[in-house]
Amino acid sequence: MLMTAEDYRESLRRYRPRVFVEGAAVDSVADEPLLAPGIAGVGVTYDFAQRAEHRPLMTARQGTSGETVNRMLHIDENATDLLYKLEAVRLVCQESGCAQRYLAHDALNAFFQATRRCDEAHGTDYHQRFLAYLHRVQDEDLSLGIAMTDAKGDRSKRPADQATPDVYVHIKERRPDGVVIRGTKAIVTGAPYMHEFLVMPCRTHRTEDAAFAVACAVPVDAPGVTIVARRAGRPGEAAAKFSAKYGQSTGVVIFDDVFVPHENVFLAGETEEGGFLTTSYANHHRHSCIGARAGFGDLLIGAGALMIEANGLDPDRHRHLRDDMVELITIVESFFACGVAASLYCVQDPAGSAMPEPVFANVGKLLLATKIYDMHRVAHSVSGGLVVALPGPDEDHNPETQASLSAVLAGRSDIPAAQRLEVSRLMEDLTASNQGGWYSIISLHGGGSPEAMKREIWRNYPVMERVALVERLLDRGVLDEGQRVSKQPGRCCVTGCEVPALPSATAAS
Ligand SMILES: Cc1cc2nc3c(=O)[nH]c(=O)nc-3n(C[C@H](O)[C@H](O)[C@H](O)COP(=O)(O)OP(=O)(O)OC[C@H]3O[C@@H](n4cnc5c(N)ncnc54)[C@H](O)[C@@H]3O)c2cc1C
Repeated sequence: MLMTAEDYRESLRRYRPRVFVEGAAVDSVADEPLLAPGIAGVGVTYDFAQRAEHRPLMTARQGTSGETVNRMLHIDENATDLLYKLEAVRLVCQESGCAQRYLAHDALNAFFQATRRCDEAHGTDYHQRFLAYLHRVQDEDLSLGIAMTDAKGDRSKRPADQATPDVYVHIKERRPDGVVIRGTKAIVTGAPYMHEFLVMPCRTHRTEDAAFAVACAVPVDAPGVTIVARRAGRPGEAAAKFSAKYGQSTGVVIFDDVFVPHENVFLAGETEEGGFLTTSYANHHRHSCIGARAGFGDLLIGAGALMIEANGLDPDRHRHLRDDMVELITIVESFFACGVAASLYCVQDPAGSAMPEPVFANVGKLLLATKIYDMHRVAHSVSGGLVVALPGPDEDHNPETQASLSAVLAGRSDIPAAQRLEVSRLMEDLTASNQGGWYSIISLHGGGSPEAMKREIWRNYPVMERVALVERLLDRGVLDEGQRVSKQPGRCCVTGCEVPALPSATAAS
């Protein structure tokens, strides 16, 4: 049953998670003002699935059950699914900045593939277990937090070599009816207001690290789970034009001897499939990040155009402003185009699902990770210094200054000063506030730091095919201009050499 945003918020009352935000225990997540922008952001994925105009993008038919499910919980079967997911993520992020739930989509798809692969290799029954779990999550329309990034401790050491094993989540004990897990996941978006966590490894493991190759589902209020979180967005701040309404919290999630029953365990020590799960999740997630940041880019493009207008300028007459805007559009649409290509050239998985093509998915994510800073630069360039210099909103209502500030801080005569100031504050909120920094850093590191993408691009790109292409051209002499020498014997020039025959007497001796 698909929920509305209000149903989702109410559903959080069924859970009693142990949550701390900014040093204080949270009694009711659903009613906590510091978390409200996060709950509202996730709520967009629920309400948009109810709207007739968004239904084709925001819902899908799950092939293994025949049920209509939220797109954010669907297993992709083909290129169209991937394209619709990409567009759906862009749509919900245009509205909310970050709506979190596509992480669940990415993890569910990776679990679907990895459990199937594990069963084939080891004769386990994870895939059936996972399908039962998947269908329940889809039927109940749950929100799942993705607990992948471990605290990791000393980055130069593997998990089993750390001074304390608790910097990585691991299996502490195996019981006949399940496993007991322990350790810390350091960054989980939306942690306080999820229904459950999907726990998975954040790296590949050696066989001696088998205890760390664990994947499972844990309700947020399972005994032993503690969530230590930041506020979501900038709740209650009058200047926060966007993030007072929408913004995500991130939480550290501590698993202190948490029992996970068998039916919720999807890998338990299978290192190879654990590595596959992580890589597959990263691939799906980088594809989703492209949609998410394109939605954010749409906000910057709109805000930039409005700032230019409110300043009394016209990009058609002022070439440098048009060039700035074109640069912003080019960045956003070029990484989005990589997402489209990754969808169209998708790879079918033996489990029956579709994976985004990995080179395009990683190139797109790498582009946005680095270009996010150029996006901010362009947005600042067209806007001017007011973005960070504007007096705070309290001044808007100060009888001693309000009238005179309105008069001098207006731009174009037919646009009231209040509207110019609104756009300016929106721009500050998105690009120059602590929330602006949040969007930069989630773009840079979310879904993996740039080095991780570079490795995947290098690992998957068919460099040798390109080498073979050039060798073939060289051998045909196409590139030969008299100086190049082909590696093929007897083909040192376009016409090739006549190799003299050896005298038969010499050849016989
Ligand atoms: C806002 C936000 C939301 C996020 N949400 C989630 C979420 O919901 N769920 C989740 O699981 N994760 C989430 N992440 C985590 C994200 O996946 C990680 O930030 C990312 O994988 C990088 O890990 P890290 O932050 O631990 O940085 P580190 O791994 O410490 O990386 C820092 C730098 O050190 C380098 N480095 C690290 N290890 C090595 C090494 N061994 N050798 C050489 N160089 C190294 C990296 O390349 C990088 O340049 C989120 C991140 C952000 C910023």
